[in-house]
Amino acid sequence: MSKASKMWAAMVPWPKPAGGRRYSACHFCDTLHEAHPVEEGASAVCQRCGVVLYQNRWASMARASAFSLAGLILMSVGHLFPFLTMDAAAMRMNLSLWGAAAALMREGAPILGMGILIFTVLAPYLLTCGMIYVCLPLMWGHALPGARFVAKWMYRSEQWNMVEVFLLGVLVSLLKIAKVADVTFGVGFWAFTGVMLCMAGAVAGIDREELWDRLEVAES
Ligand SMILES: [Zn+2]
Repeated sequence: MSKASKMWAAMVPWPKPAGGRRYSACHFCDTLHEAHPVEEGASAVCQRCGVVLYQNRWASMARASAFSLAGLILMSVGHLFPFLTMDAAAMRMNLSLWGAAAALMREGAPILGMGILIFTVLAPYLLTCGMIYVCLPLMWGHALPGARFVAKWMYRSEQWNMVEVFLLGVLVSLLKIAKVADVTFGVGFWAFTGVMLCMAGAVAGIDREELWDRLEVAES
């Protein structure tokens, strides 16, 4: 057996914490169900309204870690290369995410500049680093110190991660700018498009019920 397949075989499936019966409430109709473990790839549904209660997604921790790692690398690439290049009247301007935030702060819109930094730089970094810190060791049944605290903040920062809103805003504003200047998307723009897809993949790969169960077992 190769080293990679040994590591794969050592990954623990979704464990159920000890301590008797556990319950899961339907978030749609509030019916309380006894929570039983489900096989990988299967999901538990509400007996009353049919809404999915929890899912045991295939290789969830591995997928979340891989997508987060890819997102982190792409984010670093996105910050190193220009986001947009504008050519107008013999002038060429390279725009980066940091440059855009700094320009807004300089030009009298400091709150907007800070908003860009928090929602498109800080929150995505928090989410991806938190995912890697929590999910990577959990694949083998370990929890790093403070993993529960990090997981809590990871989910809190999830709703403030607005890379996709920012990209949409850029595309809409480009419709106006394109009339007065030639605009070319830089490597940074495509990298952030990749970040957006990776983040969606990482968050969608995990069932919160599974994450808390795994943390509880690893810390006990
Ligand atoms: Zn229900």
